Amino acid sequence: MRKLSLVTAVLAALVLNVNAQQLSLDAMIDRDIATWLTTYRNLHAAPELSHREEKTSVFVAGELRKLGFTVTERIGKFPNPQWSGYGLVAVLKNGPGPTVLVRTELDALPVEEKTGLPYSSQVKTKNDAGVEVSVMHACGHDLHMTSFLGTATMLTALKDRWSGTLMLVGQPSEETGDGASAMLRDDLYTKFPKPDFAIALHDKPELETGKVGYTPGYAMASSTSIDIKIRGIGGHGSAPEVTKDPVVVAAQVVMALQTIVSRENSPLDPAVVTVGSIHGGTRYNIIPDEVNLQLTVRTYKEEVRRRMLASIERIVKGVAATAGIPEDRAPTVKVAEGAGALYNDPKLVERVAGAFRQALGDENVVQVPPIMASEDFGEFSLDHKIPATMFWLGASDPAKLKASRESGVPLPGLHSALFAPVPESTLRTGVKAMTSAVLELMKK
Ligand SMILES: [Zn+2]
Ligand SMILES: [Zn+2]
Repeated sequence: MRKLSLVTAVLAALVLNVNAQQLSLDAMIDRDIATWLTTYRNLHAAPELSHREEKTSVFVAGELRKLGFTVTERIGKFPNPQWSGYGLVAVLKNGPGPTVLVRTELDALPVEEKTGLPYSSQVKTKNDAGVEVSVMHACGHDLHMTSFLGTATMLTALKDRWSGTLMLVGQPSEETGDGASAMLRDDLYTKFPKPDFAIALHDKPELETGKVGYTPGYAMASSTSIDIKIRGIGGHGSAPEVTKDPVVVAAQVVMALQTIVSRENSPLDPAVVTVGSIHGGTRYNIIPDEVNLQLTVRTYKEEVRRRMLASIERIVKGVAATAGIPEDRAPTVKVAEGAGALYNDPKLVERVAGAFRQALGDENVVQVPPIMASEDFGEFSLDHKIPATMFWLGASDPAKLKASRESGVPLPGLHSALFAPVPESTLRTGVKAMTSAVLELMKK
């Protein structure tokens, strides 16, 4: 009997303690939410393109310094010497324990905002080609940065509840898929502690604000960009017999490439080959010298990716040879750098989802299916060696989402000029979820 009441008392104390922690986190969020909304609107109105996140990076670094983090800026080496690495790392050492990496992206997209919101972006800039483009945080990286700063504030205030090293990473150039690798190439894991866990969040317009989503295992695909140049022998449009027409070869290549997924790949290994761009020729009656194609390839498994790249090369060269294009004019296939797949460590997902359920309630934590879109956050896991997970942060008004599901008309998604997440409850949930996840991984 005594034992039982002791157990009851301990349980009651635990519950009280959990409630007290929860209450204080909510109270702290209430205290700070107005500041975060201002930060969010300011970031939203001042987006910067990938490889150019200079002011954004300085702002985030400054905020983290104010909180007492040791901040290092300008991390990241790109193969293109014209691009600077605007990555930053903020470290807070707080006793023995694991090192946890929390990542936010810093960049925005060349999209002209059409939301009509009072804090809409009016920013225009020149892109790498010297063409003027509008810029917008159309992927919600402004929400991510604000949640990240809010999480940093919470964890600094709650230092007595965790032990270990907190490593906050502001990553540039996520949209171009080369920012994480640029930071790793700049010796991220030797200049700074190598993390035991890596975690990030991404907003999701298909999920209600207030909810978070998790996906164990492969969650997002690898992305590989490929440039193909099909060279022929040009001439007059009326005399095909003295030419080798690269337009016809390109057309056959586009169709033949579709057999890779349908005939060469296991149906159990998801894969996509998309020809997103095809350009050749100048007018009606000229057979051009060349046609250029741009492809994206998506897979989960690395061995599937490698096999598909080999198949693409074989098919392109084979079709050209069949058309009689001479060896010295054989097509060229250039593989550009891409992002690796995102694999959410199932054990880590289980721990983090448990923390979410406690913080947000079971009904607000849902499992969501994987997608073939890409993210370079997975690079921080060094090919599954470091347990990593990225979770989804619901960002849409539940009533609008319900109406959209009923009508079948989707809400404006990520990268849309009309993308307009609900800021307040999304930020509250983002901060609460990320803070709870880190506290779970670093609890005393
Ligand atoms: Zn994006
Ligand atoms: Zn994004």
